[in-house]
Amino acid sequence: MKTTIIYIFSFIMINSLHAQIKGKPIIDMHQHARFKVWLDENGSHYPRMCFPVPCEPEPAKARNGEDILKIALEEMKKYNVVKAVVSDENLENVYKWKASAPEKFIAGGAFFSIQAADSVKFREELKKGNIGVMGEIGVQYDGMAPNNKELGPYFSLAEEFDIPVLIHCGGIGGGDHRFNLSAGNPLLVQEVLIRHPNLRIYIENAAWPFLEEITSLMYRYPNVYADFSTIVWLAPEKTVYTYLKGLIDNGLGKRIMYGSDQMEWPESIGIGIERIQKADFLTEEQKRDFFYNNAARFLKLTDEEIKMHHKQ
Ligand SMILES: [Zn+2]
Repeated sequence: MKTTIIYIFSFIMINSLHAQIKGKPIIDMHQHARFKVWLDENGSHYPRMCFPVPCEPEPAKARNGEDILKIALEEMKKYNVVKAVVSDENLENVYKWKASAPEKFIAGGAFFSIQAADSVKFREELKKGNIGVMGEIGVQYDGMAPNNKELGPYFSLAEEFDIPVLIHCGGIGGGDHRFNLSAGNPLLVQEVLIRHPNLRIYIENAAWPFLEEITSLMYRYPNVYADFSTIVWLAPEKTVYTYLKGLIDNGLGKRIMYGSDQMEWPESIGIGIERIQKADFLTEEQKRDFFYNNAARFLKLTDEEIKMHHKQ
């Protein structure tokens, strides 16, 4: 009897400890399938980016391209990331990532210029069911605004196949000299929504720092969601919390989703999660919405899948 009680007690303890470590399920709406690291002139991997410069970038964890996927999978296991949208301009890279955990990854067809988009047979890939998200559409890096009519056929395809669109539209981006800040005003997305009323679109970084503009867009168009991603690990903590609090105070807590924007620093997955988890202005319910519930609704996950994620 005593042995049985000890056994049951140990079983409960081990399981609750496991639950504490593993945590509740999380959906990451924004990763990139990279197999290459950027090297500096000495052949070392560039440290993890930070803004605004000057700032102290942290050393990168991945030493080579293969490390990126390996560490990303480890981070996902550690933080119980049960689903992640992963994209790249090279779909072969995306499919390799997806093959490593088919039940977790949703493949996205990214493009950062219209030329890159035109070289992909999106309709064929969509017909085969290979792609679940159109994007990341990062044409802002090529100086193009979201309302440019050349993007129309891609939005139409997303509408036709009822898949979400992820678009980079905001006031922050990497080093490309063609990157156009003024093309990042989210009010420019309104024209897209008038032409494509059934689009399920989500805006990277909730269009930081355009808080008023993204608020009006999201009030007017209930089919617009946003991820809160790169900014979480890239910018100073106060900047991150001020913007997130602004979105929450404006009542948008049911439409903002977690994203890591993992590029070649897969440790960013956990850094972002921990930063939001320790934000004391968020209630537990708001955190669950941010990390899982909003994305599950936006992605139209089935009840069975949601149940399964909470059992794991
Ligand atoms: Zn991205």
